[in-house]
Formats: sequence, structure tokens, C-alpha cells
Amino acid sequence: MTGAERPATLAVTAGRPPRAPGAPVNPPIVLSSTFVSQGEPGPGDRFYGRGGTPAWEPFEAALGALEGAERPAVVFSSGMAAIAAVFSLVEPGATIVVPRHAYQTTLGFVDELVARTSGQLVRVDVANTAEVLAALDGASLVLLESPTNPMLEVAELPEILAAARSLGVRSVVDNTFATPLGQRPLALGADLVVHSVTKYLAGHSDVVLGAVVAADDQLDGLVRAHRTLHGAIAGPFEVWLALRGLRTLALRVERSQANAAELERRLSTHPLVAGVRHPSLPDDPGHERASRLMNGFGSILGVRPVGGAAAADAVVSAVGLWLPATSLGGVESSIERRRRFATETSSVPDDLLRLSVGIEDVDDLWDDLDRALHA
Ligand SMILES: *Cc1c(COP(=O)(O)O)cnc(C)c1O
Repeated sequence: MTGAERPATLAVTAGRPPRAPGAPVNPPIVLSSTFVSQGEPGPGDRFYGRGGTPAWEPFEAALGALEGAERPAVVFSSGMAAIAAVFSLVEPGATIVVPRHAYQTTLGFVDELVARTSGQLVRVDVANTAEVLAALDGASLVLLESPTNPMLEVAELPEILAAARSLGVRSVVDNTFATPLGQRPLALGADLVVHSVTKYLAGHSDVVLGAVVAADDQLDGLVRAHRTLHGAIAGPFEVWLALRGLRTLALRVERSQANAAELERRLSTHPLVAGVRHPSLPDDPGHERASRLMNGFGSILGVRPVGGAAAADAVVSAVGLWLPATSLGGVESSIERRRRFATETSSVPDDLLRLSVGIEDVDDLWDDLDRALHA
């Protein structure tokens, strides 16, 4: 490897065993909780499976390379474990800035953290740059999603991340929705990137896994130390599956984005659809920014059917191909009304359906959705 490959190539090439006659093409699944060692272990020496294992290294190398980092990613047992690790960097009583719309469990996590540590929480509209910049003053950490879950708001990441750095505010970007093929937050000035590997990176709805990628060695060391001390470590099979999934990331993202763009184009003139949200639509509030900052628009759609929440529930009950399920980023298309969860933020419309578009034939997806809208 020359180290100069483009992301779609890196997804295939990174984290392979060294090329040698007779060498395996894929890394083996390593099942060992302990490693031969005696005396005082040096930095990076393997001695016990919670501190480090070759079961993680190929995936960590591949994701670090994909995010354009100078170091490997740090894999965790879930996206939430990764998010908990980055929030462990915040001192008690600190001010934290988060999107008003974001992944539900992330918002639940920060609510609990701030209540327990007497901190301050500022929730911002990430699309309103002036509001975000004002909130950074005096903050300790800012977490951003762009596009946000489930409202698909797009943030002016370079300007916000530069301001955070100059103010000494630690910045974290949850890059689950965009994937490193859509944007590389470290290059835009983020201190840390977090992923729910469960979603697009693994891509097959068969593992729950997370990761952090750090911009410098000090942060990387703190996140690794947190993993060892708190113990939210990933299992060898899950990490192996995630790396296997990662190999086809570019193909899956390309196909699902193309499907999403086509569906959103058709839905935007559907008589039974009151509103469609996707940054690829020319009149979407995030369109200009996403066109400038992102490579592709992602494959999550927000759809509001005519008839309110009851009509939205009826659509979910009527689909046959689309999967009524939460989560996103798998090869299969899924649909859910977000406000079915009592914990979903109340400014998310009651009738909003979140569609995670997969890689099926777009005409089959359309036929099923159109039929369900008429049901
Ligand atoms: C799913 C998700 C998470 C949480 O990840 P888990 O792997 O479910 O723990 C965090 N952020 C976003 C944007 C997600 O979609």
C-alpha cells in the first residue's frame, strides 16, 4: 500500500495481513484472552485481551485510514460505549453543547451526565451557525451530528470546528450518518470522531459496535485508557464481521444514496405525501451546505404522509418489503415513525417517518411504499 489510496480503495485494502507467499488475504479471527508475556509490559505490548488484541487491530487500522487519521480507530462494544468514552473527557460541572435533534440515546446520555455532575447543557440548532458559535463560548465540549438524526439538519462544520479549536472547546463529530466516504471531520478540524459501527460501516444489521477516531496522540491515549479501565470492549467475531462489512462500504453507500435520491424525487410529487426531507432536494434547507461540504447526501429520508401520525402508522403497518424496524444503514430498507418513542424530542414532527434506504431494486422499494401510502 502506498498510503495514498482514495477512500473507496482504502475500504478494500486497509487492515489486510502483510502480503507474503501463502499468507491469508483476510486477518484471522483471534480468540485469545491472554498473550504470552513476562516482566513489565512496554507501551503497546500485548498481555491481556481487555487492553488490546489482534482481533481489533485490522478493523481499527482500516477505519483510521478511512477517516484520514494518522492513527488507528479505537473500537468499542457499541456506539454508545464510544460516545461514553469521549464524554469521560469532560470534567464535572462543565458546559456541553449538543444538537437539539440528535440520536435519542446520546441525548439521554448527556441529560443523565449533566444532571449527575451538575453540568450545563446547551442544545443548539446545528444548522444555525451563529447560534452554535454563541453557545461555544465557555463550553468544554461540543458534540455535533451532521446530518442530524432524524431531522437531517446540516452544520457548517469547518467554521464551527475552527471556532471550537480557537476557543479551546473540544469537538466531537458523530459521523455515523455521513460515513467517512461522505465527510472526514478530522480534516475539517474535529478533535474526535465517533461512529455507531452498527450502521453503515458494518452495514448488515448483524452486529452492534462502535468506534472513536482521535486527531492526536494525547486524546487517542485517553480514549484507549478509558476503554481499558471501563471495559466496554468489542468481541472478536463482531469486529471481524464489521471489517467484512466495511469492504463493501463504497458500493453500499453509492447504491443506497442513488436509491434514496430517486425515491425522494418521486415522493416529493406524491399526492399522499405532505413533506419530504433530504439534503439532495434543491429546496431542502441543507442542500447548499451539503453540496459544498459533503460527498453525497446520504440515504436517510424524512417523509411526512398526508393524514398525520395515524397515517404514518398505517404506512408502517402496510409495507411488505420495507422493514418496520429501528436502526439504519443496513443493506435492507427500513422505516419507522420516530415519535413512536416517548423519548423522541418533541420538536420532531409526530408524523415523521424516518426511512433508511437500502440497496434493493429501487422500483420494488417504490412499488411497496406507494402501495403502503395508498393503504
Ligand atoms: C445508532 C447510533 C448511535 C448509537 O450507536 P449504538 O451502536 O446503537 O450504540 C449513535 N449515534 C448515531 C447517529 C446512531 O445512529
